[in-house]
Amino acid sequence: MHANLWYPYTSVNASGLARPMLRVEGAEGPYLIAKDGRRYIDGNGSWWVSNLGHQHPRLVAALKHQADRMCHVSLAGISHEPAEALAEALVGVAPDGLAHVFFTDDGSTAIEVAVRMALQYHQQTGHPGRNRFIALEGAFHGETVTSASLSDIPVFHQSLSCLAFDCERISSPGVNEDVALTELFNLLNIKGESIAALLLEPLVQGAGGMRMHSPHFLTEARRLTREHDVLLIADEVFVGYGRTGTMWACDQAGITPDILCTAKGFTGGMLPMAATLTTGEIFQAFVNREGETDRTLLYGHSYCGNPLACAVALEVLRVYREEGVIDGIAARGEILQAGIEKLATIDGVTNPRRSGLIAAVDLPPMREEGYQDPVGWQVYDEALKSGAYLRPLGNVLYFVPALNMPVDVLRELADTAAESVTKVLNT
Ligand SMILES: *Cc1c(COP(=O)(O)O)cnc(C)c1O
Repeated sequence: MHANLWYPYTSVNASGLARPMLRVEGAEGPYLIAKDGRRYIDGNGSWWVSNLGHQHPRLVAALKHQADRMCHVSLAGISHEPAEALAEALVGVAPDGLAHVFFTDDGSTAIEVAVRMALQYHQQTGHPGRNRFIALEGAFHGETVTSASLSDIPVFHQSLSCLAFDCERISSPGVNEDVALTELFNLLNIKGESIAALLLEPLVQGAGGMRMHSPHFLTEARRLTREHDVLLIADEVFVGYGRTGTMWACDQAGITPDILCTAKGFTGGMLPMAATLTTGEIFQAFVNREGETDRTLLYGHSYCGNPLACAVALEVLRVYREEGVIDGIAARGEILQAGIEKLATIDGVTNPRRSGLIAAVDLPPMREEGYQDPVGWQVYDEALKSGAYLRPLGNVLYFVPALNMPVDVLRELADTAAESVTKVLNT
C-alpha cells in the first residue's frame, strides 16, 4: 500500500490495509506479474474489463500507431476517422435498429447519458410526464449519483442516499423471474404513463452477486415496455462483448433495446471508454427544426471519442472477428462449468451458475450473507498463495476470465479455486 494512494473498494484500518496488496509490475495474456516474476492467473479479468487478456499485441500496436498520429482532440464541432470508423463498426455488430453512437468515458457515464437521452426524448415528443425509471432489485449501474440512484446495493451507495433520486423497483429476476414479470406487468398497468424507461442488466446482474435470469425474461420485458411506450435501456457494460456467450446478452433474446450501454470489454480492458447506442427514432427527437436549437442534447465530456481509445476499440472488434473470440467461448464455458460443478460438491457450496464466461457459486456465509461476508476473502487469500487472483463479492465466488484464456490456464484456475475453497472450509 502506498501512503499517498487511496485505493478503490479497499478497506483500510489503523495499521494499513485490511489485507496484503498484490503489487504487480507487468501483465501478459492471462497473467498478472509481480516484481519477483511470480505469475498470477487473472480470474477476475481485472474487474471484468480484460476480455482479450493483457497486452494483446494487436491492441498495443493499434494504440502505438494512433499515438504517433493524434492522441486527443475534442469531438465537439470536430470529427475524426477513429471515432467515425468505430461508430460505424459498432453499429455493424449492434442489435438491429441501433444506429447512433454517443461516446463517453466509462460505464457510469454511459448510463448517465442513457438516462438523459430517455428523459429528453420524452420531453421532446410531448410526454414530459414520463420522468420515472424502473430498475431491478440488486442492480448495479455505476458510481455517479444518477447511476447509483438506479443501483440497489445499499453497502456501496448508502452514503449517497441523501442525494439519490427515487425510482420504481421490481424484484430481481435472478431470484424469481415470474415474480419479477408480474411486478413489471402490474407496475406498468398502474403507473405506465409516468415511466420513462426500464433499465436492466440483461442475463446477469453482476455486482449484485452474479444473479442470472433467462432470455425469456428479456423477451417479456421488451414486449411489456413496448406495449406501454416505455423505453428499454440495456446496461451491457458487463454482459456485452461476448461475456455471456453472444456478442450482446440481448442477442440471446433476439431483442433490440431502445438504448444500449457498453463499456468494460469495449476497449479490451486497455483504456477507459464507453458508448451509448440508440435508435433512429430516439435520435430524430433531437433533430432541431429550422431555426431552432433547443432540441440539442447538451451533454458531453472532455474526452468524448478520444482517438487513442477509439483506435484500440476498433482493433478489439477486428480481433473478435479475426480470432474467432465468440466462437471460442463455448468450449471454455464447458471447462468453467465443470469447475463450478466440482466446487458445488464441496460441503456448504451451493448454487453453481454460469452464463458464457461468467460463473459463480455461493460460499457458506461466515457472518452475514452478502458483500461484507469475509469467507470470499479467505478464499481469495488462499488462491493468491497458489497463484490465482479471484476477487470475490462477499460470499459469492466467481470467475470472469479473459474470453481467450488458454484452456489449460482456465483449468488450472478452476482447480486452484477448488483447492482454495476446500482449504478454507475445512479449517
Ligand atoms: C461496472 C459496471 C458499470 C459501471 O462501469 P464503470 O466503468 O465502472 O463506471 C455499470 N453497469 C454495470 C452492469 C457494471 O458492471
